[in-house]
Amino acid sequence: MGLNVLFYILSALTGLAIGSFLNVVIYRLPKGQFFSKARSFCPNCGAQIKAYDNIPVLSYIILRGKCRNCKAHISLRYPVIELLNCILWIVNFAVFGISWMTLIYDILVSVLIVIAMIDFDTFEIPDSSNITILLLGLITFFPISGVSWQSKLIGCVCISIPMLIIALFGGMGLGDVKLYFVLGLLFGWQKILLIFLISVIVGGIFSVIYMIIQKKKAQDDEENSDSENSLSDEIVEDEKSSEEKINSINIDDSENQTSENNFVNDQEAKDIKSESCQEEERDTIANESQSEKENSDEDEDEDDIPKGKAIPFGPFIVLASIITIYFGDLIINAYTKLLGF
Ligand SMILES: [Zn+2]
Repeated sequence: MGLNVLFYILSALTGLAIGSFLNVVIYRLPKGQFFSKARSFCPNCGAQIKAYDNIPVLSYIILRGKCRNCKAHISLRYPVIELLNCILWIVNFAVFGISWMTLIYDILVSVLIVIAMIDFDTFEIPDSSNITILLLGLITFFPISGVSWQSKLIGCVCISIPMLIIALFGGMGLGDVKLYFVLGLLFGWQKILLIFLISVIVGGIFSVIYMIIQKKKAQDDEENSDSENSLSDEIVEDEKSSEEKINSINIDDSENQTSENNFVNDQEAKDIKSESCQEEERDTIANESQSEKENSDEDEDEDDIPKGKAIPFGPFIVLASIITIYFGDLIINAYTKLLGF
C-alpha cells in the first residue's frame, strides 16, 4: 500500500516534469532547435524564464497566465499539456501497476502528445517521434506486452500498406502512414485495426462538423458584407442629396442676396452643412471599416491552407491510440463475444 502511494506520487511528479519538457520539444522540434542549449524564454519579450517561474502548472497559476516581465498572455496549452501528461502517467500506473508496460506506455503517451501537437501546428509528424515508437515496438518483441511477434509483424503492414497506397494518391500524409506502421508493430494487428477504425470514425465525424461550421461562417461573412455594402451605398446617396441641397441653397442665396429672408437661408445652409460634415464623418468611418475588412481578408488569404489539409489527421490517430491503450482489450473482447467466438 505504502509502496503504491509512493509510485503514484512519483508518476504524478515525473509526469508533470516530463510534460513541461514536452512543451519545449513541441516548440523547438519543428524549428530544428531541439538540441539548442538556450534556456526557455518568453516568445514575446525574449526574457529568460527563471527556474522558479518554470514549475509545471503551478507557475502558470501564480503568474495568472502572464509573462512576469512583459505581462504577455501565456497560452493555456502549456499547463494543459503538463496536466494531461501527468494524468496519463498516473492512469498508466493505475492500470498496469509496477510493470515494464507502465514504462513503455509512459513513453508512448508522451510521444503521442508531441505528435498530436506538432501535427496540429505544422501538419507534419516528425520522424524522430515515429522512430521513438518504432523502438518501443522493437523492445516489446521481448515477451512483456502479451502481443505475439506474428501479430506485431502483421500489425505493422495491415493498415500502413493500404494507407501508403492512398497516400501515393495524395489522400493522406506520409507521416500518418509511418505512424500506423510503428503503432501496428507495437500493438499487433487486432489493436491497430481498432486504432484505425476509431481514428477514421472520430476524424470523419469531426471533419463533417468542422465543414458545417466553416460553411456557416462563410455564409455569415457573406451576409455581413452584403449589409455593410448596402449601408455605405445609403451613405453615399445621402451625401449626394445633401450636396444638392447645399447647391440649391447657394443658388437661393445668390438669388435672395438682397432679400430679407437671407438670414433664415444662411441658417438653413449652416444646418445642412453641419449635417453634411456629420455625414462625411460617417463616411470616413465606413471607409475605415471597409479597409479593415479588406485587411482581414488579406490575413485570411495568407493563412489559407491548401485544400484537403484543412484538418491534420495525426491527432485522431493519437486519440484512437490512447483509447486503445486503456480500452482496447475491453472493446476487442466485447466484439469477439458479440460475434460468438
Ligand atoms: Zn515576456
